[in-house]
Amino acid sequence: MAKKKSKELSPAMRQYLDAKAQVPDAILLFRMGDFYELFFEDAEIAAPLMEIALTSRDKGSENPIPMCGVPHHAFNTYVAKLLGAGRKVAICEQMEDPAKAKGIVKREIVRVVSPGVLLDIDSLDASSNNYLASVIYGIEGIGLAYLDASTGVFRACKADDFAQLRIELARIEPRELVYPEKLAGKLEKLDTLVPATALRTVEDSLFDIAASREILAPYADCSNLGLEVTRAAGGLVGYLAQLQRTVELQLEPLELYEVKNFLVLDETAVSDLELFRTISDGAKRGSLLGLLDRTSTAMGARLLKRWIAYPLVDKGGIERRLDAVEELYEQSILKAELAERLKKLYDVERLATRVVTRQANPRELYSLAASMEELARLPELLAQCKSAEILDVSRSICEMPPPLAEAYAFMKDTAPPASREGGIFKPEYNADLKVLLDLTRGGKEWLLSYEATLREETTVSSLKVKFNRVFGYFIEVSRAKLQHVPEHFIRKQTMVNAERYFTPELKEHEEKVLNAQDKAYALEEALFTDLLDRVAKHRNEILAAAAAVARLDVFASMSQIARDQGYCRPEVNDSDVLSLKDSRHPVVEKILGAGRFVPNDILLDGQDNQLLIITGPNMAGKSTVMRQVALTAIMAQMGSFVPAAAASIGLVDRVFTRVGATDSLARGLSTFMVEMKEAAEIMKRASRRSLVILDELGRGTSTYDGLSIAWAMAEYLHDFLRARVMFATHYHELTQLSQYKKRVRNLNIAVKEFNDEVLFLHKLVDGATNRSYGVQVARLAGVPRPVIDRAKEILASLEEGGGDIHIQRPRLSKRKQANTSNQPDLFAAAGTTAKVKPELEALGNKVKNLSLDTLTPLEALNLLYELKKDIS
Ligand code: ATP
Repeated sequence: MAKKKSKELSPAMRQYLDAKAQVPDAILLFRMGDFYELFFEDAEIAAPLMEIALTSRDKGSENPIPMCGVPHHAFNTYVAKLLGAGRKVAICEQMEDPAKAKGIVKREIVRVVSPGVLLDIDSLDASSNNYLASVIYGIEGIGLAYLDASTGVFRACKADDFAQLRIELARIEPRELVYPEKLAGKLEKLDTLVPATALRTVEDSLFDIAASREILAPYADCSNLGLEVTRAAGGLVGYLAQLQRTVELQLEPLELYEVKNFLVLDETAVSDLELFRTISDGAKRGSLLGLLDRTSTAMGARLLKRWIAYPLVDKGGIERRLDAVEELYEQSILKAELAERLKKLYDVERLATRVVTRQANPRELYSLAASMEELARLPELLAQCKSAEILDVSRSICEMPPPLAEAYAFMKDTAPPASREGGIFKPEYNADLKVLLDLTRGGKEWLLSYEATLREETTVSSLKVKFNRVFGYFIEVSRAKLQHVPEHFIRKQTMVNAERYFTPELKEHEEKVLNAQDKAYALEEALFTDLLDRVAKHRNEILAAAAAVARLDVFASMSQIARDQGYCRPEVNDSDVLSLKDSRHPVVEKILGAGRFVPNDILLDGQDNQLLIITGPNMAGKSTVMRQVALTAIMAQMGSFVPAAAASIGLVDRVFTRVGATDSLARGLSTFMVEMKEAAEIMKRASRRSLVILDELGRGTSTYDGLSIAWAMAEYLHDFLRARVMFATHYHELTQLSQYKKRVRNLNIAVKEFNDEVLFLHKLVDGATNRSYGVQVARLAGVPRPVIDRAKEILASLEEGGGDIHIQRPRLSKRKQANTSNQPDLFAAAGTTAKVKPELEALGNKVKNLSLDTLTPLEALNLLYELKKDIS
């Protein structure tokens, strides 16, 4: 890196290189006065990322050193840019006051930050956790651990295989994932698994079992963690310790959880159901989270996100949450008051971490104190509540810890973000401080009276006692009045129109005032540090209160949306029935506006309604109705009210989705391969308790291949897996399954047809349909008229049973033609054959010869009447 020989370098640059050698994989920010400077390759990499100019040091010399720099006060913004690009950043501070240092200023690397370890509140997304995760793969399976250094959350679980690992990673979305060097290349393509995550290999020794046990001791009893979880969690804490250096580690006790204790939502379901962001533009708005998030605090917003990702599977837990939501739902005045109070709270969880790691500034400490003060008054507001969860919230909120009460009473509400320049405390906080502050203030009064005395003494009314930074205090007399200046004035400076003087008295005062200021600053800083230390001791109470208020906030948010959108409390049970009355899609309903969404009744069970085959035109609402059922189950199991008039939910263990067609080119998978992989996952893992949403299956290949696959999978789901399934399809042939499979039921979404126009009714009705109205929908979409006309011609030809090369219409394959109609032979499928009767043939010909394009609605009605008569 250094092109210059070390002896040619300045002492500061040699010090820089020594520091850089300690953190070769990080970008080093080297404090020099008011700037953080970057040199050599770091400057070349970082300048474009931070969008600042790259310059050079020793410009005139033979080997100028590339450099760039950022002002110290704006440094967080620049660090955030580097972290956003996945970089690791080391911060080297001046460890002594440059003005007092003898020789070169002592410097030390105080912190290394990486995307997963960011403690600065302004750079973090308030509504999301910032997870740093680690994964290890060994003889006992896969260990996964993750923590949020900004809140202290620390969790781990064991994954049985990569599929389960994928599920967890998709739900927690870590910002950074570390794993041991020796696993590089052995883990499944992690970069495709977690695309937005910075991946980093770290020394194998961090994951050593003995080292892991030792470092985990304060956080967990390793005897019941298992080998891989211990190593993953130990390696993670070891890595964090390396990064934090001088900052004390502060983590909650390790929470070990089991994947099966929550409703499983894999990455496909998370994405297809648009739980956190929309598929179209990746925005929160338009997602389930976007709709449900009415939280007032950052803690609540983060918890809501977690509850959506991890719905419960135990009836008791769900009902406890529902009770709390119902209680607030019923008490709108309390709910409104609560929302008002919660809005005043700052991010207590992250502020507490800043205090504990001694990074909090005066403004942050005051914000924490003010929030805790507000929080401490909540139990009184909740005194009338009866639900177990809210009572628990009340119990978990502590009384105001004394040092925080002290901060709230004696810190100024204008406390600044820096601790070195005073303005932190009210004078009455400390007697010495009061004296010093009085002196600095009284100094001004003294000056005024001194000025008045001098004016009287000299009879010069324009005489002024002034102060400036360069010359300190002085007496200024205009040139015209110089003859009045007394002997004891000592000349300080000559100006064009005036002379400046001082007196021994003024000098003495100057020293007192200036010292008082410095002394007051130093005293305030010392008092602040001491207070911070004492507040830090109450970390556990503060965090418990923060966790409780997060729950309360989520309950309030859920009850608010339930009121606004007219949701009902679901009944949850252990049966296999999922029954919804007047069910709606929560997000589509919101977008369409009040009263415009057509509600539907749904019944899924293990008896006659296990596999619902849903047919209907394009755009009718098949995808919508299926997704709304899945979203309703998720909402119910997270403890929320649901968009329906009545809902009974037999608990779901996992939601599977297979929706739409997308390539995953990054993973090297074609559209059809993605589709089949998702289908394979369902066939391998669905249980009787699962809810399966199939929005088309087998469309990415030839009609016959696709239909065969869809048919066989439907049979398998019906006969063996017996999961509750909703299967929307344009393969109308599939509706015949209901003829010989007991638990299959056909439903379709009604439309009205008039003069070749279709009107979507969005109403789910019994029975099958055999038209998709694709051509009509294409016309609605603006496909040009000639193409539509030609498509109709071709469709008619195909429906007649084939085309002819001479009239330029497609011909169906031999196999398809052998079947003559587009539909498979119903009777053949059922294992019998029957000859078409001559009367039926005559009837068929009558219909075939109809000219639909010229038929009026009245003629059509008459014809129907005739046909009905013929048949009977
Ligand atoms: P395709 O077969 O083309 O995929 P689809 O049957 O799955 O179509 P959806 O995508 O579910 O159709 O719905 C199309 C649009 O119809 C939705 O975007 C929504 O605006 C509207 N819609 C769906 N269901 C309803 C409903 N129940 N009430 C009102 N509007 C609805």
